[in-house]
Amino acid sequence: MKRLFAFWLITTISWTADAPGLRGYSGDSARTQREWETKFQAVPDPANLRSYMQRLSARPHHVGSPYDKDNAEWIAAKAREWGLDAQIETFDVLFPTPRERSLEMIDPTRYTAKIAEPPVAVDPTSAQQAEQLPVYNAYSIDGDVTGPLVYVNHGIPTDYEELDRLGISVKGAIVIARYGGSWRGIKPKVAAEHGAIGCLIYSDPRDDGYAAGDTFPNGPFRPADGAQRGSVMDMPVYPGDPLTPGVGATKDAKRLPIAEAKTLTKIPVMPISYGDAQPLLSTLRGPVVPVPWRGALPITYHAGPGPTRVHLKLKFNWDIKTLYDVIVRIPGAVYPDEWIIRGNHHDAWVNGADDPLSGQAALLEEMRGLATLLRQGWKPKRTIIYCAWDGEEPGLLGSTEWAETHGEELAQHGAVYINSDSNGRGILQVEGSHTLEQFLNGVAKDIQDPETKLSVWKRLQAWRLVNPPDNAPPAERQEPRTRPDLRIGALGSGSDYTAFLDHFGVASMNVGFGGEDQGGVYHSVYDDFYWYTHFADSEFVYGRALAQLAGTAVLRLADAELLPLDFSNFTETIRRYIDEVEKLARDARERTIERNRMIDEGVYAAANDPRHPRLAPPKEPVPPFLNFAPLENGFVALDRTAKMYDQALARATENGGAGLARAALRDVNAKLIAVERALTLKDGLPHRDWFRHQIYAPGFYTGYGVKTLPAVRESIEQKDWKLADEEIVKVGKVLENAGETIQGAAAELSRALR
Ligand SMILES: [Zn+2]
Repeated sequence: MKRLFAFWLITTISWTADAPGLRGYSGDSARTQREWETKFQAVPDPANLRSYMQRLSARPHHVGSPYDKDNAEWIAAKAREWGLDAQIETFDVLFPTPRERSLEMIDPTRYTAKIAEPPVAVDPTSAQQAEQLPVYNAYSIDGDVTGPLVYVNHGIPTDYEELDRLGISVKGAIVIARYGGSWRGIKPKVAAEHGAIGCLIYSDPRDDGYAAGDTFPNGPFRPADGAQRGSVMDMPVYPGDPLTPGVGATKDAKRLPIAEAKTLTKIPVMPISYGDAQPLLSTLRGPVVPVPWRGALPITYHAGPGPTRVHLKLKFNWDIKTLYDVIVRIPGAVYPDEWIIRGNHHDAWVNGADDPLSGQAALLEEMRGLATLLRQGWKPKRTIIYCAWDGEEPGLLGSTEWAETHGEELAQHGAVYINSDSNGRGILQVEGSHTLEQFLNGVAKDIQDPETKLSVWKRLQAWRLVNPPDNAPPAERQEPRTRPDLRIGALGSGSDYTAFLDHFGVASMNVGFGGEDQGGVYHSVYDDFYWYTHFADSEFVYGRALAQLAGTAVLRLADAELLPLDFSNFTETIRRYIDEVEKLARDARERTIERNRMIDEGVYAAANDPRHPRLAPPKEPVPPFLNFAPLENGFVALDRTAKMYDQALARATENGGAGLARAALRDVNAKLIAVERALTLKDGLPHRDWFRHQIYAPGFYTGYGVKTLPAVRESIEQKDWKLADEEIVKVGKVLENAGETIQGAAAELSRALR
């Protein structure tokens, strides 16, 4: 009895201590909310996650396949069975599939590439060849090319600078690049910019094959004939259906002729296995490549060109295929016009157990959890929309076309978008809008890591302390301990949040677990139920943790009196980005001055190995000083108004947040939602107007990798100094506008409390 009392006391204390911790909630509603969340978190069941994955991955389910549609109908039926309102929305998109693929080496010896992944005896679905999409890169153009081969490492711009210094040109050549270093679509784009006529992309065993670990089926890594399918659409220009940029690909949408679609590749491109790459690479001659370029094949890596010559022939069926997005809606009781949106894709390249069903299964259990709460009388304040997207793999098609179709509503009502994709064992991985950083830290503290029983937040903190960034100074190494919130990464691209964040300015996040179940079956026939249940989250307990984490985030956002966005962490992050771009400009200037001087002094020539000379880099004009004052002024506005909002919020949460419970907060919430919108510009980024967000974008030359303050950062990287100066002015103004919106939210909040 005594013990029980002590326990009760501690709980009471922790409730009162916790209540202000639920940002945006009054004390009373925070208590009720925690009760609902506890009930919700008890619902997700690993046995269900397992059976969903088994059912959905039973057959190949790429865009346009019978099982893709069947899965969508099954997901909708499940939601309805739980009592939810589920609809299927369809779109018609360009989706090429291979008609003819061949690759042969014609010199110095003959070799015909297999470009096929053999079935594995222990793995039943690997034998479903009649339904499998073969190994290919979607949105490669048709082509029939023959030329000398050149090895270009990752095939990113710096690799071509190195080739220049080796005196190697890829003009008229077919390049072979290894996966890694960028998103795959960048490789044919940069190769074409340098005059190549074709592109092969292979998976080197150093990265995800035998050098990384045992290969499938003995281990999780890529076998010799495994290859990585994937899209090579020029997504940094715009994602979604290539024929309907900016508008939904509905039946009667106006479509571009295929020849005018800007996001198809300029040269034919195909992915191959290391089994097929080795004969080609082993006959290459020319200089031995720099050490970081070397993979783990038992050969000496040469750059070429030739004597290896290859013939690549590709022909595609350029068909229009139908997408099936499953949309499940739970109307809000108080703020029905504010939408909390949660999505994960359901389409795969082949059977796709890991990518995407490990995440899709969690999304299904979340829906079942919310349905359970609804039956017990829970009513969300805001509207909740659950989305099982189709067509993510070819180019974020299902999410982009849905968002573009509902653009007007989304611009008015979209409050937060929560995405997941693949999920596995390990550490919490989270990126997103920094206005959500504090909120996410709060949620992560309430979710238990299934294997260590620590909170997933505590595990992430420990992981960061043990694995600090290379060369980080001591203060930064200790930061996970000294800063109240763990930092979240910025979002680039590579999954379905892109249209929400980058085009519509809806605050977004991407969540998942991973890092402890590495493998090498990504986008191959071996990413299936057998692989997942042997080598990944085989007990589905991290699947349950994902459902608990993302579902709790949905609940907490949907039920808050005041949307729990925070602007002080956001402002601090912007300070870091501004410091980074200023340093980038300074370094570019100093580096150019020094390099030009070395060229003038003949240093490169004098330092050269006379038998293996490298060319000096070209002399370049010295970059001018840029005027960063507009960014600094924008920052000051943000900093000042973020503090104003914090003060208004502090007043609102006095006396257990009694004011919050009483006040009419509709207008405050509207202003809070408008802050992320204020970070976008209708004219978009230079050379790619679809991308409107001025803080985050996928890099034009990285693909998935994020560029923060992208207009400024990329114009500096691309040495367009005039553009850099113009963009600094624009982005400075964006920061000021965001500051004004935050100030408006603070004023509205004070008014509501009066
Ligand atoms: Zn995926």
